[in-house]
Amino acid sequence: MENLIFTNSALIRANQCNKSYYLNLHYPELRDEVHENHRSLLERRKIIAKLTNHLFPKGKYAGIDVTGSCEMSYAHTKDIITSDAETIFNACFKYNDMFCFIDVLHRDRDKWNAFEIWDKKDPNSHIILTGTYQHFILQKNGITLGNYYSIVYNTTRNNDDVIDLTYDIVPIKNQVTEYQQNLCQKLSEIKKLAKQNSIPEINPGKHCSVPNKCDFYNYCKFSENNN
Ligand code: SF4
Repeated sequence: MENLIFTNSALIRANQCNKSYYLNLHYPELRDEVHENHRSLLERRKIIAKLTNHLFPKGKYAGIDVTGSCEMSYAHTKDIITSDAETIFNACFKYNDMFCFIDVLHRDRDKWNAFEIWDKKDPNSHIILTGTYQHFILQKNGITLGNYYSIVYNTTRNNDDVIDLTYDIVPIKNQVTEYQQNLCQKLSEIKKLAKQNSIPEINPGKHCSVPNKCDFYNYCKFSENNN
């Protein structure tokens, strides 16, 4: 997608609604004001860090918070791959102007296993779609994927207000390889959509809150009422 950075989250957005993708790309200022819960965001980050360090104690980081940009993360990931490192956290790959980040990439002799970490409350459709996209980009980079796993964690607060963490490691390689053809078609639709001159005509409906509540909802509702 010439001159436009495209990532996993843009694909998830476009899969829910083309209009949401288009607005986010061209009119991000129209997004609803979202009051993020920083405490839960921080808690989520801590849980993921605890889990990854427990499962992969010798990982090297390649994420944007370390490098500062997608391009730098991509270059850093390539450097780490050619070193003897066993594990990469937030590994970044690029194909044309499409980037993907993988939570954990772990070397298994001449192959790499990919792991994505998800909260049990996250929609399952996001897990498969993200994996399908990552698999596509990895193939384009000549990375031989051994297996693909989803690490699904669950948290509960015990009587002492301490968070108990449990997790399951679920193989999902069959699903992420099965949808490669559909993904190519979706990516080519999104590429056309990104270049069109007008906002797609889609009215709000049930799809606006499934699987996530859209952050253009107030804008859409307001425009609809003014038609
Ligand atoms: S509010 Fe609904 S119709 Fe509008 S952009 Fe979001 S998902 Fe699409």
